[in-house]
Amino acid sequence: RKVPVNLGERSYTITIGYEILEECTAELGTFPLEKEVFLLSDREVHKYYGSSLETLIADQGFKVRTYLMPPGEEAKSWEQAGEILEKMLEGNLGRKAPVLALGGGVVGDIAGFVAALYRRGVPFIQIPTTLLAQVDSSVGGKVAVNHPLGKNMLGTFYQPLAVWADLRTLDTLPDNEWRAGLAEVVKYGIIWDEAFFEFLENHTLEILRRDPSVLPEMIERCCQIKAEVVGRDEKDEGLRNILNFGHTLGHALESATHYKEYRHGEAVAIGMYGAMELAYALGMIEKDVVTRVKDILELWELPIRFPAKFLETVIQNLIYDKKVSDKKVLFILPTAIGKVEMVRDIPQDIIRRVVQENLIL
Ligand code: NAD
Ligand code: ZN
Repeated sequence: RKVPVNLGERSYTITIGYEILEECTAELGTFPLEKEVFLLSDREVHKYYGSSLETLIADQGFKVRTYLMPPGEEAKSWEQAGEILEKMLEGNLGRKAPVLALGGGVVGDIAGFVAALYRRGVPFIQIPTTLLAQVDSSVGGKVAVNHPLGKNMLGTFYQPLAVWADLRTLDTLPDNEWRAGLAEVVKYGIIWDEAFFEFLENHTLEILRRDPSVLPEMIERCCQIKAEVVGRDEKDEGLRNILNFGHTLGHALESATHYKEYRHGEAVAIGMYGAMELAYALGMIEKDVVTRVKDILELWELPIRFPAKFLETVIQNLIYDKKVSDKKVLFILPTAIGKVEMVRDIPQDIIRRVVQENLIL
């Protein structure tokens, strides 16, 4: 399956399917590239898929230089990016030698970041291996590293040359990472496509057990929706905000818990449920719409509430969210399944009441 991302001269294709890497690497020769690649991965992912990919690339006549970083969000740092760039310089990597990112969102984000900086930009290919990376982070060109003062605070827009999503790599993904990724999948249904949301409702168990009869369609649809939104607002000046559905509260909770308590998708699940309740409190939707979202999140054992001890910090963080303008938090709220609006003028006391009454364990 192929999903085009239409961004003028920065357009590219997402290839989705089982065991596609042989066919994808065979296309390496069609791009105007030097016969050398810089492969960036983390030790965990490389253990499973590194050497077979290296062989496929070598078969195409490319020399492979591999750099492995430690797994985990802490490695998505300025220091780590500096080390990678140093290795690229020491290896005297050419300006047309592509950076290949084999891994989850952490590897993809930092690979894109160094690819954008090295010699003012070298080509870059995403080979996402987590559900979150396949449906979200590998598409759209947002690349960044974290800073102690804020997540993703140092970054730019830098589109890949191609995205190769091999669904076979998802087999080894731990269950909690799988379910966290599903939160972003649900998000696409709520913000864009009621029929897709119904598809998810009708296949909850197949999806939970990663059944090949539903995964290609599910992941393809997510990529189509992300591509559509990014195609209309590449630089995040308006529409792209809707991808932050559930993230306003989610980010506030991640930050309140110092990114240790919840995976990103888990915090987003709580944030999406919060946004549903907020929309209900504001009279934008009926209760049964809230219940549909709640049901699917609970079925997939995603959290929808958090402990009271984080409440005050969450509320504080909400007020200082980066999407705040004039002290008003931007919420993405549904008016139905498949349709959201950006709402900026919600009084703080309403937000506090809805969170207190619905989101506390
Ligand atoms: P991750 O990259 O940390 O991967 C999660 C864990 O799974 C890691 O320990 C990794 O080693 C392991 N792993 C990865 N693939 C595996 C596989 N196939 N089998 C077994 N283990 C595997 O986390 P993530 O959830 O993929 O990405 C999170 C990051 O993505 C965050 O830094 C977030 O900011 C970023 N992100 C970026 C965008 C964007 O638009 N650029 C969007 C959403 C999220
Ligand atoms: Zn997200």
